[in-house]
Amino acid sequence: MKTLTIIGAGISGLICGIYAQRSGFRTTILEKAGNPGGVSTSWKRKGYTFEGGIHWLIGAKTGVPLNDIWTETGALQANNPVFFKDPVYTLLDSGLQLDLRRDLSTLKQYAPEDRIPLALMRFHVWCFSFFHSPVQDISDLKVRHPRKFSLTEFIKMGPAVLLTPWLMSFSARTYIRRFRNPHLRHLLESVVDPDINALSLIYTLSSFSSGDSGYPEGGSLRMAQNMADTFTKLGGQILYRTPALEVVREGDTIKGVHTAQDLLESDAVVISMDARTAIDKLFTPALQAPWASRMRRKLRTAQCMFIALGVHADLSARPRCMQIMLNEPLHAGGLSFNALTVNNYSRDPEYAPEGCTAVTCILSGPSYKYWKQAREDGKYAALKQEAIADFISALSTALPEIKDKVEVTDMATPLTYERYCDTFEGSYMSEWKPCHFCYNAPLRVSHGLYFTGQRTAFSGGLPVAAETGRRCAQVVCRDFGAEFVSR
Ligand SMILES: Cc1cc2nc3c(=O)[nH]c(=O)nc-3n(C[C@H](O)[C@H](O)[C@H](O)COP(=O)(O)OP(=O)(O)OC[C@H]3O[C@@H](n4cnc5c(N)ncnc54)[C@H](O)[C@@H]3O)c2cc1C
Repeated sequence: MKTLTIIGAGISGLICGIYAQRSGFRTTILEKAGNPGGVSTSWKRKGYTFEGGIHWLIGAKTGVPLNDIWTETGALQANNPVFFKDPVYTLLDSGLQLDLRRDLSTLKQYAPEDRIPLALMRFHVWCFSFFHSPVQDISDLKVRHPRKFSLTEFIKMGPAVLLTPWLMSFSARTYIRRFRNPHLRHLLESVVDPDINALSLIYTLSSFSSGDSGYPEGGSLRMAQNMADTFTKLGGQILYRTPALEVVREGDTIKGVHTAQDLLESDAVVISMDARTAIDKLFTPALQAPWASRMRRKLRTAQCMFIALGVHADLSARPRCMQIMLNEPLHAGGLSFNALTVNNYSRDPEYAPEGCTAVTCILSGPSYKYWKQAREDGKYAALKQEAIADFISALSTALPEIKDKVEVTDMATPLTYERYCDTFEGSYMSEWKPCHFCYNAPLRVSHGLYFTGQRTAFSGGLPVAAETGRRCAQVVCRDFGAEFVSR
C-alpha cells in the first residue's frame, strides 16, 4: 500500500481522498480547520444555522456526469435530498415583484419590448442545456468502472462549445444591457456577479432551466460531513486542526509533509488548499516553476463579504431569494451596492428557532485591501459592526417586518476566509472576468506531487472542485500503477 497525504479537507481534497483510498492508497487528509468542507461550509450561531457555501449545486440532477461524483462520494444521500427552488430569484423594486422562474419563457410577460433579446437569450441558454461538465477517464489508466464516452452527447455539446469563446469575451453586464426593461435587467443581475463573463450567466441560467442546480437540504456542512464519513468508513484518516507546514522533498522525491508535531512520511502528496497560497507557503524555497511565477504575476481573485442575520420574525411570506433594489446605495468594505441579493431560509425549519428566520447576503467585490488596512489601523471590528448596522438598516427599509427584530448577526470578510482556509487574498472562488485566462496550477508537478481544487481548472466553484479531485486521484493512480476504483 502506498501512502498518500492530502493537504486540505475541502470538497476537492475529500473527493480525491475518497477515490484514492478506494483505489488502494493509505490516505491521510490534513486539515487546518476543525470541520470538513473548506469554504463550502455552514455554521451555527445561537440557534440559527447560516449557510455560507452552497447556493446552487450543479450536478444535482440524476443522470448528468457530475451527479455520479456526488453519488459515488456519498455527498448526496437520503439525509440531504436536493431541493429545486422555483422561482430561483425574485426582484423587489419599489413595490414591484418579478420572478425569475426556471421556465425562462415566463419573462416575456414583464418585458414585451424585449421579446427579441429574450428569445435570443433563451436560444443561448438552450444551447447550453446539453452541456455538462465533462467527467472523463484519463488515458493510460486501468479503470475498474470505465466511463462510457457517448459520441451523441459530445455532438450535442457542439453549439455550447461554439458559443463559448464569444460569451467569454464580454461581461454579463454587457449581455444584460441589451434588454431595455430596467426591472428585467436588475432581475438578471442577481444571477451572477455582473462583472464576470457572460458565459457564467448563460451557463447558470441553463443549469436552472434544465433542472440541474438545486440545494441539498442540511446545506454545505451536511454534504461535506457525508463525504468525510464516506472517506473515514473506507479507512481514510482526517487530522483536523493540523495544518501542513511544509512539503518535504529531496530533489524531486517526495519525503512527506511537516506538521507542527512531526513529519508525516508519504509516497505522494496532493495539495488541495489554495495553490496560490501553497506555492509560497509550503515549499522551501518557494516553488519557482514557470507556471508558479505566472500565477504570482497574473492571478486575480474573487472576493466577497458575507452577512448573516438571525431575525425574530417569520419571513415565509417573502420569496426565498430576493434581489432587493435599494433607494440609497449601501457602502461596505470600501464598495457600494445598489442592490442586495438576500437568501431567506424561513422555509427550512432546521435553520432557525420556530417563528424566526436565518437571512444571508453575499456582497461580492474586491474588499480585501480595505479590510486589511482596517485591521492594521485597529478599526476592523468597528468597521464590521458599522457595515452590519448599515446592512440591517437598508434591509429593514425593504422588509419592514425585520425592523428591531434582528437578534444575531455575523459577518465574514476576505480576512475571515484567509484566516480559516488560507485562501489567497481571502478569495472565495476563482475569478473569471471577460477575456481573462485562469492562471492555474498543473494537476501533476512531478511524480508524487500534485495539485487539485479551485485553482487547477476553469472556471471555479464546486464543479471544478469535484472534477479536479477525481481527475487528480486518477493521475496519482496512473503514476503508481494502481487501478482506479470509483465505487
Ligand atoms: C459564500 C460562498 C458561496 C458559494 N456558493 C457556491 C455555489 O453556490 N455553488 C458553487 O458551485 N460554489 C460556490 N462557492 C464556491 C465553492 O464553495 C468553492 O469553489 C469550493 O468549495 C472550493 O473547494 P476546494 O476544495 O477547491 O477549496 P477549499 O474549500 O479552499 O479547500 C481547501 C481546504 O484546505 C484547507 N487548508 C488550507 N491551508 C491548509 C494547510 N496549510 N494545511 C491543511 N489544510 C489547509 C482549508 O482549511 C480548506 O478546508 C461558494 C463559496 C462561498 C464562500
